[in-house]
Amino acid sequence: MGLVVVGAAGRMGRTLIRAIEAADGARLVAAVERPGSPFIGQDAGELAGAGNLGVAITDDPLKAFANADGVLDFTTPAASVEFAGYAAQARIAHIVGTTGCSEEDDAKIQAAARHATIVKSGNMSLGVTLLSVLVEQAAQALAASDFDIEILEMHHRHKVDAPSGTALLLGDAVARGRKINLAEQSVRVRDGHTGPREEGTIGFATLRGGSVIGDHSVILASAGERIVLSHHAEDRELFAHGAVKAALWAHGKKPGLYSMRDVLGL
Ligand code: NAP
Repeated sequence: MGLVVVGAAGRMGRTLIRAIEAADGARLVAAVERPGSPFIGQDAGELAGAGNLGVAITDDPLKAFANADGVLDFTTPAASVEFAGYAAQARIAHIVGTTGCSEEDDAKIQAAARHATIVKSGNMSLGVTLLSVLVEQAAQALAASDFDIEILEMHHRHKVDAPSGTALLLGDAVARGRKINLAEQSVRVRDGHTGPREEGTIGFATLRGGSVIGDHSVILASAGERIVLSHHAEDRELFAHGAVKAALWAHGKKPGLYSMRDVLGL
């Protein structure tokens, strides 16, 4: 399967290039960065530390997509919306790991999924995908009148969106388990005199610092006990590995918007 990496010079972009090289059945056919990027023209493999691959980084996504079977996209919401349109035109699979998308961005990506096979997830790791299933089960089993649920996350100092895509994915798992609407029940920030906790809400807390790749805990707290379900990402490779797996799975699937749960059959 011929894959394009967009945002090829980014933290995830470089990791994705190495993951494609290590995977059976996938090869890098193009690498894209934004116009004006200092990396245009450089060999993508050399930049990623995978040796010379003979793939020069380009700023022309349309040409790159025309010769590919799929695109791996860990960039920005605006870029991912644009790439979703191009991937739909080219009828190729689009794997979106970008987080921080607004409802409007998500609606545009959903519209593109009428023509393209899109796999989108705030976390492409096997561990977090499984964790989301466990969190949904726990939220369903433990009544809101007994257990409060809070989600705590920490990421590196460069991360620009909060709460993380993974924290929101886990919040969505809680909402599914409790059959409630996440947007209506979320408490994203607490500051000042907030009053007591409102029953049934889902609280988020965000920490930023250092080089932390991604730590998440879902805390289920009752009057006398606490259950903590946690995931700690130790290397970006697990996200890249999941993204390549998603691309291989999506190849030839009918258009639609899929999640990592679909890819992993969970
Ligand atoms: P990063 O290092 O900033 O990389 C993003 C790259 O995309 C940069 O090289 C950026 O170029 C490039 N880019 C932005 N707009 C572009 C455009 N229009 N065309 C081509 N390239 C463009 O960030 P990161 O740490 O790799 O993370 C990227 C995204 O993935 C974030 O949303 C992050 O939260 C998410 N993420 C998701 C997962 C998951 O499993 N789903 C895991 C890790 C990270 P410039 O620097 O020139 O702007």
